[in-house]
Amino acid sequence: MDKISLYVHIPFCKRKCFYCDFPSYAGKEYLVEEYVECLIQEIQEKCKLYEIQTIFIGGGTPSYLEPKFMKKILETIKKLNLNSNLEFTIECNPGSLNYEKLNLMKEFGVNRISMGLQAIQPSLLKGIGRIHNFEEFKENFKMARELGFNNINADLMFGLPTQTLSNWKETLEEVIKLNPEHISAYSLIIEEGTPFYNMDEEGKLLIPAEDDERNMYNLTLNMLKDAGYEQYEISNYAKHNLECKHNLVYWNMDKWIGVGSSAASYINGKRLKNFSLIEDYIRAIKNNKSAYEEVIENSNKDNIEEFMFMGLRKIKGIEEYEFRKRFKINIDEVYGTVLKKYIDCGLLKREYGRVYLTKKGIEFSNNVMSEFLLN
Ligand code: SF4
Repeated sequence: MDKISLYVHIPFCKRKCFYCDFPSYAGKEYLVEEYVECLIQEIQEKCKLYEIQTIFIGGGTPSYLEPKFMKKILETIKKLNLNSNLEFTIECNPGSLNYEKLNLMKEFGVNRISMGLQAIQPSLLKGIGRIHNFEEFKENFKMARELGFNNINADLMFGLPTQTLSNWKETLEEVIKLNPEHISAYSLIIEEGTPFYNMDEEGKLLIPAEDDERNMYNLTLNMLKDAGYEQYEISNYAKHNLECKHNLVYWNMDKWIGVGSSAASYINGKRLKNFSLIEDYIRAIKNNKSAYEEVIENSNKDNIEEFMFMGLRKIKGIEEYEFRKRFKINIDEVYGTVLKKYIDCGLLKREYGRVYLTKKGIEFSNNVMSEFLLN
């Protein structure tokens, strides 16, 4: 039986954060019941021929679902062909989580919790539109620990409006004290279509200068390293052997099925994307029609480019052997000139059969990556 990973999208949030361009909606709770029914149908149909290696229920805010709906989804998943070493993550946000929900997750085999915190300062949290405070995060974290969850991720964000380097240091210090197994630390990106984008256009968003943001990133590297976390991807850090296996599937360009509105799948070189609007998704599933809004047959060139873009996000970079195995060609025949250029200027390194970005290369990763586009 073929092995695969599963992503389940829950597109509901209690309130929309000001920076968020994810396909999630506030005020559409009236669709939850129908949505969950459709999701169950889609999971059953698409997963039956596979053995599931990792599962990630994300969103949106999966922990915002009422326990009865969460239970229905978990019951469906429990009946799939699950690998005995399954990594099973649910994304949770403080302010939407409680003992009953965590207990349910535990009961149904969820073994990894990813909790959104972003920052600890109340004014910063309010400024980005989050509904929780640090106290609630700590309470939820403690509750999860008491229930036996021993693999928890904390999601953080830097480069927030009005955030100072000392604010960020304080956030890292407090989170390190909680000792999660995994920390994600992304820099804020202003995306079109968000309230932050409009504020930025009007000059009303006081985001830190580029240098300050770089200092925040470097502080993250140093503090997390000292606290025993290994950086394994540009924005992700884990205690030894506790990297997120599900995210590695994306960065390694392995196979995954995405279910739910707007979920993407990557199977046998094909990129498939479900309808983005919840209503369109429900209509398609209810009428036994395909939920795909887009089917893209990746060309060999697309696959090579994606393999490089995604792979170079990993600190270990890409394996030359894997490149040869997948594309039946030596990496030098495709990228010899680019590799030489960036190795010579110290942005890329090549050793032990791998190619990876150096510390300086990570800072300029956008420039380096863009040269891996093939004409
Ligand atoms: S909770 Fe997450 S998905 Fe929901 S609006 Fe905020 S950032 Fe977006």
